[in-house]
Amino acid sequence: MLTNAPKGTKDILPSQVYKWHYVENAFREACGRYVFKEIRTPVFEHTELFARGVGDTTDIVEKQMYTFEDYGKRSITLKPEGTSPVVRAFVENKLYADIQPSKFYYVIPCFRYEKPQSGRLREFHQMGIEIFGTDNMMADAEVIGFASDFLSGLGIQDLELRINSIGCPKCRENYRKVLRAFLAPKYDELCDTCKGRYEKNPMRILDCKSPVCQELVKGAPLMLDYLCDECKTAFDDLKTNLDAMGINYIVDPGIVRGLDYYTKTAFEFVSDKIGAQGTVCGGGRYDHLIEQIGGPPIPGVGFGLGIERLLLIMEAAGISIPEPENLDVFIAVMGERARVFGLKLMRDLRNQGIKAEMDSLGRNIKGQFKYADRLHAKYTVVIGDNELDQNIVSIKNMETSEQKPVSLQEILPTLKAQQNQELQQNQSADFTVDSL
Ligand code: ATP
Ligand code: MG
Repeated sequence: MLTNAPKGTKDILPSQVYKWHYVENAFREACGRYVFKEIRTPVFEHTELFARGVGDTTDIVEKQMYTFEDYGKRSITLKPEGTSPVVRAFVENKLYADIQPSKFYYVIPCFRYEKPQSGRLREFHQMGIEIFGTDNMMADAEVIGFASDFLSGLGIQDLELRINSIGCPKCRENYRKVLRAFLAPKYDELCDTCKGRYEKNPMRILDCKSPVCQELVKGAPLMLDYLCDECKTAFDDLKTNLDAMGINYIVDPGIVRGLDYYTKTAFEFVSDKIGAQGTVCGGGRYDHLIEQIGGPPIPGVGFGLGIERLLLIMEAAGISIPEPENLDVFIAVMGERARVFGLKLMRDLRNQGIKAEMDSLGRNIKGQFKYADRLHAKYTVVIGDNELDQNIVSIKNMETSEQKPVSLQEILPTLKAQQNQELQQNQSADFTVDSL
């Protein structure tokens, strides 16, 4: 037990973490360009926030939440999704009094008690954006366009964007009646979960993963055919906007989304390369959520994008993520005087932005070289009594084995100059690629 992480959780090891940095940095950078500001909310919230916000007919609230009572007898839940907490913070901090719309982003861990499998964990991570304060379909197109540009910017080409409208409470109520009437003769064959959904939220039955239910809902009436005028116009506007932006999509009337709070726009980006859990990004509009949670009647739209699934897709597509250089220089030392000098040199180098390392296990010089090799040091500097007395050391390029003699005082400026030169070369390489 002690040495096993809880089921459905994963360590992100130092050898892998650069991939996470890469996609997170790309996301933050994109948020900057699209002018979204980060918001950080607590990892846990009052349980009622999710019960009300996410909707009490959802899988999440019915059976997936990590809920516990704290010592003050409050019911607390680890956040299963990102939107409700942002809404709570927006209302509590009266951010609606600022200039609107409000544009937020987050990068968070989420917790859901699910059956772990590839692309489905109990602790997973989401990057998401939200726009509050406008019901204009420009916002929906912006959110979808952001996801599309971000994903293709990472080199992911073959995702399918599926969009749908799931109407508003007005037209949905009417549609639910029609859907119940369609399902009534098949009621006994539905799975137990769907029997429960029949009264409360029959639309969720369309989304059931059970093959029996999937068969039963074939030929069911579609929400799209029952939209009220307002929702129909909104969906047409959305398509016009996506067309104008040159974003390809397919209209998939089967998209329902797992959360109760959605209205009008619902969308998913789906990959067929990573098995059953192919939805990497899902989102939509939620025009009544802010009000339901106790705020003013302000509409919203956003998406959540699973980082684990994103990395699976990139791996499946063979997109390699550049591994950062581990180490610029290893300082090998012989003797106590050299050790003390090396310690000071290492600190100065690090403070100048150079990645420097020394041995701290008392390895002999051969052992230190091996260690430098294992760390993939670009350069090695060897310092002993001789070097200190004669004020000359050689900087060895580990790749070419080329050696450059310099004085002790020149070590830092030489390595710094080398670093600047490499930086410039990389920049001009980037420039060439960009300008092609
Ligand atoms: P699913 O269809 O897999 O159940 P969902 O509709 O529950 O997804 P959302 O609540 O919309 O998912 O979450 C947005 C994104 O978060 C998903 O598209 C997916 O990439 C990711 N995600 C959701 N649940 C998990 C999980 N248990 N493990 C890993 N990633 C997940
Ligand atoms: Mg789910």
